[in-house]
Amino acid sequence: MKAHILGFPRIGIKRELKKAVEAYWHGKTQREDLEQTAKALRARHWQLQQDAGLDFVTVNDFSYYDHVLDMSVTLGVIPARYEHQGGNADLDTMFRMARGRAPSGKDTIAGEMTKWFDTNYHYIVPEFYPDQGFSLSSTKLFDEVTEAQQAGHKVKPVLISPLTYLWLGKTKKADFDKLSLLEQVLPVYREILQKLKAQGVEWVQFDEPILALDLPTEWQAAIEQAYASLAQSGVNILVASYFGALEDNLQVATRLPVQALHIDIVRAPEQLQNVVDALPETMALSVGVTNGRNIWKADLNQCLAILEPLKQQLGDRLWVSASCSLLHSPVDLDAEKRMNPAIKAWLAFATQKLRELQLLKSALVDGHDSVAKSLEINQRDNDARRNSTLIHKPEVKQRVEGITPALAQRQSAYDKRAELQKQHLDLPLFPTTTIGSFPQTGDIRKTRRDFKKHLISREDYTRQMQNEIKSVVAKQHELGLDVLVHGEPERNDMVEYFGEQLDGFVFSQNGWVQSYGSRCVKPPIIFGDVSRPSPMTVDWITYAQQQTDKVMKGMLTGPVTVLQWSFVRDDQPREQTCLQLALAIRDEVVDLEKAGIQIIQIDEAAFREGLPLRQKEWQTYLDWAVKSFRITASGVEDVTQIHTHMCYSEFNDIMPAIADMDADVITIETSRSQMELLDAFEDFAYPNEIGPGVYDIHSPRVPKKDEIMTLLHKAHERIPAERLWVNPDCGLKTRGWSETEAALQNMVDAAKTMRETV
Ligand code: GLN
Ligand code: ZN
Repeated sequence: MKAHILGFPRIGIKRELKKAVEAYWHGKTQREDLEQTAKALRARHWQLQQDAGLDFVTVNDFSYYDHVLDMSVTLGVIPARYEHQGGNADLDTMFRMARGRAPSGKDTIAGEMTKWFDTNYHYIVPEFYPDQGFSLSSTKLFDEVTEAQQAGHKVKPVLISPLTYLWLGKTKKADFDKLSLLEQVLPVYREILQKLKAQGVEWVQFDEPILALDLPTEWQAAIEQAYASLAQSGVNILVASYFGALEDNLQVATRLPVQALHIDIVRAPEQLQNVVDALPETMALSVGVTNGRNIWKADLNQCLAILEPLKQQLGDRLWVSASCSLLHSPVDLDAEKRMNPAIKAWLAFATQKLRELQLLKSALVDGHDSVAKSLEINQRDNDARRNSTLIHKPEVKQRVEGITPALAQRQSAYDKRAELQKQHLDLPLFPTTTIGSFPQTGDIRKTRRDFKKHLISREDYTRQMQNEIKSVVAKQHELGLDVLVHGEPERNDMVEYFGEQLDGFVFSQNGWVQSYGSRCVKPPIIFGDVSRPSPMTVDWITYAQQQTDKVMKGMLTGPVTVLQWSFVRDDQPREQTCLQLALAIRDEVVDLEKAGIQIIQIDEAAFREGLPLRQKEWQTYLDWAVKSFRITASGVEDVTQIHTHMCYSEFNDIMPAIADMDADVITIETSRSQMELLDAFEDFAYPNEIGPGVYDIHSPRVPKKDEIMTLLHKAHERIPAERLWVNPDCGLKTRGWSETEAALQNMVDAAKTMRETV
């Protein structure tokens, strides 16, 4: 029987990798320094796995930037613009592919980045050209295998499988079938396996997360074809599925000529029996029984209740593991020195998850008695969590139970509301606004930091923030914007800001997870019933409103986005937690209205990324997500105008849900797609008002008035003038002031010209 993990976080307890990589990028250190840090991190992570008694250490889960990009480099999938001359690609070529720039080599456009399945990890999208070739172009994998072996470890290297790799890529220049590349990529994979075999490697893990997706039949067939070819290498293969059930890929997976299959029974517990029934006797089953992507302590007795009978049935063919790579977990709970100990006792980060696997293996192999004490403590902690008054607030649960359809319903339909709002707000055609944040200067960040560290008083802090708000309002006046914002200077992050003020949340000091490259995020932890002890934004927004006669837009983050960007409790359905959030934020909306705020924007930046991987589960998600938004938005009078904002550009498949949210105005990112996105809104005959972004805030480039006019004309071809707003793609907090003012001036001028000419 074996215990193992699919991967360990690479960033280090204190984000050592981030700091080392950035220092290298900025020329503060040499390549050797970076390599030293990386080596020390790998050594540490392997040692932790060894100390936990795991049967292998996982190798090649380390990456300086992204493991999908590493796979591209290994396979020689390096677009011509990087001018790679063949042979092994060097570190700087990889960094240029990741971010356009490295200490050596020409600046070049970086690869596109997108989300890794339904996680918040982003990978660099492989680019496939019509004449795409593949050739082994890196020794990273083999070097790390040697390094681990020399440290005395038994290794299990991990690779992205050929099919998952092709699935993740994009064709460029011509639209051709990516599957046609399989025949050419397989020889490189075979070469890799041969080399690993020569290094004495016995097991290789192929990550095959696409097994949890709705796959076209050609892809299912191609998976069989690929492993038939790889199986001849003489190295044992573990195929790893995760993030969902195998379902219609079950037959494919269990028929593969491989020696082991990993399944995720945290996300898809219901698949276990079917998989066991279909499993051939030649195959081991790695059961992902603890959660690799959340921070809760496993219930070990519950895990054992599942594993014991499997052990009877499968004997040594049973392996235990976490559901997926621990890449998505923070590194080490021991680094948390300030967390409430009662809550800390419920958590397990990656390092603690290794220990859980160790305990499970011991209990299975040597009997429960061998770890009785630890099992008892685990049980005690989980029982404490189940019954804790910190978590369970009867009044919150009752309020959710009392939700009626009326609570998710504005008083009147959009047409009627729109008329009332028009009279009340008295805005010109093509009204101009922004998405909320204004440039966050070093001063603002410092003030926030100082206040957090108690270096300045609350009065000082408030005064400085008010000064910032005042100046931002004055600037918007000068620019001639129609609907103003306060600029969000008090917010470090659009989710954290609200989480810190809501009950039911806790924050870690070091609970970082990699988001992309050197960027890490520290998601809030929703541990209990959510409620709002007091108003969260009202003082700032009313202060801002007092500085102007124009309409001030209040700014909130919506329930779905808060949920999506947090670690969410696993003791109740996500829907319940989302509804609790909805009620809490609804109260804030109502309080803003009471304070005289006439427009309130509820950002749902993460609405789309919550979509489940399997299409058949979409509707259930969309139903409760839309309901949550509507509950948040529906406590106000008809004259109060509700905006929402979403920043991504694929709406086609969820248009009915977007319309069903029934926001009076939706602002969206469109400028990079040249308004093509609006086709979806036009085809669907989207009934409410829309503000398609007219300039890309991700670039420091100032758009010319003409360019904005062109975009506005395009928008106007699709949306009638009475329902069209003028705004940037997203918030401006990452921009500098000079480009922001210039761009907004052009935007306001363009809107004015539209009014005169259309
Ligand atoms: N109101 C937020 C801001 O302007 C929206 C951010 C977002 O959509 N990601 O910063
Ligand atoms: Zn946005």
